[in-house]
Amino acid sequence: MHVTKIEKNIYLVDVETAGIENFIASYILKGETIAIVETGPASSIPNLLSGLEKLNVRPDDVAYVAVSHIHLDHGGGVGTLLKHLPKAKVIVHHRGAPHLVNPEKLWQQSKQVLKGIAEIYGMPEPVPEDRIIAAVDGMVFDVGNGVQLKVIETLGHASHHLSYYEPLSNGIFCGDAAGVYLSEFDVHVPTTPPPFRLDIALASLDKLANLKPRVLYYSHFGKASDGVRKLQTYGEQLKLWAKVAKQGLEKRENLGTIVDRIVAEDEFLKKAEGYIRAHPILSHTVFNESVLGIVDFVEKHGSLL
Ligand SMILES: [Zn+2]
Repeated sequence: MHVTKIEKNIYLVDVETAGIENFIASYILKGETIAIVETGPASSIPNLLSGLEKLNVRPDDVAYVAVSHIHLDHGGGVGTLLKHLPKAKVIVHHRGAPHLVNPEKLWQQSKQVLKGIAEIYGMPEPVPEDRIIAAVDGMVFDVGNGVQLKVIETLGHASHHLSYYEPLSNGIFCGDAAGVYLSEFDVHVPTTPPPFRLDIALASLDKLANLKPRVLYYSHFGKASDGVRKLQTYGEQLKLWAKVAKQGLEKRENLGTIVDRIVAEDEFLKKAEGYIRAHPILSHTVFNESVLGIVDFVEKHGSLL
């Protein structure tokens, strides 16, 4: 567990799920009270709690726990975390809320899709319904001293995905809406598992870019400058993947061949290929799930090109 101060009022806790560094971030916002953005999975909640302790956060002072969406690596730990935070309310997209109250279906589906990775993340615990705020676009949550979270509905990665705009730092907690950012290589790579919606994801990226953020706070992983440009180049990268997928489908190529051609054509991916292939989780999610999501979209809806 590492804690880093990244803005005047914002701290990053590397929750180091399964000992993997620089992969899943939780953000702590300090105003008069505290907000937490993203919990990471259930299995690394002990690390997040150590981070809160290190920051001298009193459990009673945490007003909000906001999650971008309910996938296990983002909101899987909410139920476990809440047991330690007596006054905190959970902010989640209204379509995700029922799955936090009753996570059984989410857990079964996660095991099917993620296989062993689901076990690494751990089984989510239920969240009491009266502690959930079913959020809609435009809601604002204030923790004092000018620190706020404004809900921006950014669907596409999932049908229940939210980002959060933070005006004091002019930054956006973008969840999985802007991909996975690998700071070591200064590249982003798609996180687009089925049932990914390219058309909706591109509209979400425009919506975020229109806010003209100075910085992005990626859940995977960390703070990055040049926010608007990154949102735009991520959109271009998604379109490139869709173009390659369309060509591959026309030639009846198998998934492995389509992956090889994406790597050959995507400069960002090429730069970080070795790192991703050696990564215990990204090797599966990028080269299988993300490619599958794009191919699935193109099969159903075309490449938009
Ligand atoms: Zn994720």
